[in-house]
This record gives sequence, C-alpha cells and structure tokens, in this order.
Amino acid sequence: MNTSVVLFTADLRLHDHPPLRAASAGGRQVVPLFVRDRGVADAGFAVPNRLAFLADCLRDLDAGLRERGGRLVLRSGEVVEEVCRVAAAADADEVHLAADVSAYAHLREERLRRALEADGRRLHVHDTVTTVVAPGALTPASSDHFAVFTPYFRRWSAQRPRDPLGAPRSLSVPDGVGSERLPSRDALPGVSAGLAAGGEVVARKRLASWLRSGLAAYEERHDDLAGDATSRLSPHLHFGTLSPAELVHRARRAGGPGAEAFVRQLAWRDFHRQVLAARPAVAAADYRTRHDHWRSGRSAEEDAEAWRQGRTGYPVIDAAMRQLRYEGWMHNRGRLLAASFLTKTLYVDWRVGARHFLDLLVDGDLANNQLNWQWVAGTGTDTRPNRVLNPVAQGRRHDPEGAYVRRWVPELAGAPGAAVHEPWKLRGADRVGIGAYPDPVVDLADGLARFRRARSKTDTELHIKNK
Ligand SMILES: Cc1cc2nc3c(=O)[nH]c(=O)nc-3n(C[C@H](O)[C@H](O)[C@H](O)COP(=O)(O)OP(=O)(O)OC[C@H]3O[C@@H](n4cnc5c(N)ncnc54)[C@H](O)[C@@H]3O)c2cc1C
Repeated sequence: MNTSVVLFTADLRLHDHPPLRAASAGGRQVVPLFVRDRGVADAGFAVPNRLAFLADCLRDLDAGLRERGGRLVLRSGEVVEEVCRVAAAADADEVHLAADVSAYAHLREERLRRALEADGRRLHVHDTVTTVVAPGALTPASSDHFAVFTPYFRRWSAQRPRDPLGAPRSLSVPDGVGSERLPSRDALPGVSAGLAAGGEVVARKRLASWLRSGLAAYEERHDDLAGDATSRLSPHLHFGTLSPAELVHRARRAGGPGAEAFVRQLAWRDFHRQVLAARPAVAAADYRTRHDHWRSGRSAEEDAEAWRQGRTGYPVIDAAMRQLRYEGWMHNRGRLLAASFLTKTLYVDWRVGARHFLDLLVDGDLANNQLNWQWVAGTGTDTRPNRVLNPVAQGRRHDPEGAYVRRWVPELAGAPGAAVHEPWKLRGADRVGIGAYPDPVVDLADGLARFRRARSKTDTELHIKNK
C-alpha cells in the first residue's frame, strides 16, 4: 500500500496545507476526500449561507486538484464510516486530517483513529492548519489554557509560525474511488442575496488586494462602519480557503501599524480556539457565570424578534441586523453593538443571539461566535463584564455621517447626517419616508436600570460606554 487519504474539513485549500504535503510525500497516491457529515447537519450547523459558500469551496477545490492531475472525492453520511469505506476502496494505509477544537471534532478524531486502527490503518492529525499556534501549545503556569487575552497575546507574539508551504504541483489520485456530484449554490433555497463567493481562488485574490490596499489603514479604519475597511477574510478563514499561518507571515512582511493590528485579530481567533479546546462546554454554557436570570416569556421573545428583524428602533442596531440578513456577514463593530444591545439593553440570553448569528453568518464559527457572544454578555473572558455599549453614542462615533445606517435602513434614507441615529428627534422634511420605522423597543435608561438590577451593580461599576 502506498496510498493516503486526506480528509478535508475546515481547510479547503491547496496552498499551505500540511496534511496534503505529508500525504503525498515520496510520490504517494492521494485520495482528497470531503464528507458531507450527517453529524454536522444533525447539530443544526448546515445552514443555507454556509452550505452555499461550502458548495463554492468544494467546486473550487476540485478544479484546483484537477489542474494538478487529481480530483475531489465527495461522500455524504456518517463521517467515520465514509472515511473507512474510502480508505478500504483505495487500499490506503494512512489518513491525514487537520486538528480541530470543538468537542465534536475531538470525538470524530478519536472514533476515526479507533476505526482505522481496527483495520490496520493510521490516522495522522496535523496541528497549525486551522490555527497559527496549536491550542494547548501555550499555557500559563497554573492552568491548561489562557483565560485572559493580553498575556496570551504576549506569548503568542513571541512564537514564530511555521513557514507556509506552496501548493502541490501535481497529484496522483487512484482510479476506482467513486464520488458524488459536487453541490452547487444555485440549487440551495434560503441563501442571502448578497452572500460573498467562496473558494480558494477568490480567497487568494481578496487576500492580495487586502495586502495591497487595505492592510496599511486597518488600525485607523477598522471601526468605521460605513467605510467597510476590514479584510472580510473571515469566511475564508472559517472554511480554511486561507491559512492563518500564511496570513501572519504575509502581514508581518508588509509591516506597519495596520499589519500589527490585523495580526492581533488573528491572535484573538487562536485565543478563542484554545479556550474552546480546553473547555468544550462553553459552546453552550457560561464560561464565567454571572448568575443571570435572563428574561424569558412573551415580551422577551417579542424584543428578540424585533432585534432579529432589524426593527428595534435603534438605527445602528437595525442596520447591522439587516446587513446580517442580506449579506450573511456583519461588520465587527455592528456585531459588538448588536450583541451588547440584545444581552445588556434587552437582557436576553446570549445563546438566543448566538443561535441567530449561527443561522445566518457565512463565517459562523463555534469558537469565534460563542466566545465573542460570551465576551460581550460578560459571561466570557472580558475583564470588564458589565460594560454596556450605548447604541446612539456608538452610532455617532463609528458612523458619524450616518452613511452605514442609510445604506441598510431605507426608511431613514432622508434623514441628514448623524441625526439619523435619533430618528425620534427628527422633524418636518427629515421625517419623509420614516413612517414604517418603529419606535425604540426600550428606553435606554430603562434598559440600563434593568441590567443594573439584574447584575446588582451601581452606575460606576457598569462602565457605560457613551463615547
Ligand atoms: C457577537 C460576535 C459574534 C462573532 N461571531 C463570529 C463568528 O461566528 N465567526 C468569526 O469568524 N468571527 C466572529 N466574530 C468576530 C469578528 O466580528 C469577525 O471575525 C470579523 O468581523 C470578520 O470580519 P473581517 O474578516 O473583515 O475581520 P478583520 O477585522 O479583517 O480581522 C481579520 C480576522 O481576524 C479574526 N478576528 C477578527 N476579530 C475577531 C474576534 N473578535 N474574535 C476572533 N477572531 C477575530 C477573524 O478571523 C477575521 O477574519 C464575532 C464577533 C462578535 C462581537
């Protein structure tokens, strides 16, 4: 036997792909395999936007493999059974896989290892494919993971990521291993009209243009909602059409404050992954409980629904929520404001918001989504868990001309400048077209008072962010 299977999961690329490099070393034959895993669908993660993006990625991966003399093998079903079946059909003696962090991924890896070993085959799991630094590689003296970002970042920054690998020039895939037809996004219902295209070719073009014309100004412009001046690489990192280690290398090579700020965000991504790897339960449970008794019942559900629909009466929140629905993506500042509004101003459970985000986000990711939600809700790793973001003040600050709001909330298209952030104060001609826009679901002072009662905090402890 001199054949290997490479099981692609969240690493749908040919550049900088250690499992593929190892599997094809010495001219071995390779079966590049993707399994549409029934377990992922059963857990509610196979939502239209990510399925559509995935379809693009699989087609692009197949095309890239064909250019190199190979092809992608696609199967559907129970992942361990399918991998064993393909390994047997190809008479492969080893299977290569990228390490991943969720409880499900750990279980999959263990079950796969046992099933393959029972058949006399070996599983090779590769670190630093989907992260820059492997989860668990850096630990403080007294714990199995870092609970605070700053000391983690200090240690993380001192690491030198491995050198990126080129894409293979040619590959040899054995005959006789059948594949299903590749999916197409056109056949999928419920996909957001403005969803970005997926695939490694698109990802590498986006990366090149980001390095050329976005990165340098990232530090000053990353919070500018209307400017849309972040990389928008998150779906490519989620599906692994780009390698985070390669991104760090290329950003550092470009250098400057923009590059440093961008690399810091990639460290946040690794940070959340090392938390989830060490504490898999935090995908659903509070990382640090604040003993919340979140609102429930009809009025809480009505408020949550107004939030989902982008009809809270707070323009910057509604703009962000409508961007999410239309694009399957939302600006980071919008995510922070929308999450703070739901969990603190409306005092609705972070899990309600996290679920809605996961239903729509093309980059919807268990580690980044759940742990950012927890960070904002104050049940996670934020060292100031009771900070509250004021949507009017934050709107004025991060959308000073009101252009972001007017882009996404057509009822307010006639409102001038920053006045758009307080539509209840508009008068006369400025109110034209505003008829269908709702009044605020809650008075901000009332929301704050409710949150304060719930967390039993005084004003000074609350860190209200009015700037
Ligand atoms: C409530 C909430 C939910 C979120 N859910 C997700 C999610 O499901 N998936 C996801 O990838 N990101 C999530 N984020 C983090 C962040 O908002 C997005 O990664 C970012 O907006 C993506 O846009 P970008 O690629 O242009 O980011 P850039 O600003 O260009 O940053 C570059 C990359 O760094 C990483 N990054 C940036 N900010 C963070 C962060 N706060 N935490 C971890 N990694 C970060 C991302 O991989 C991102 O692509 C969430 C943030 C919040 C507040």
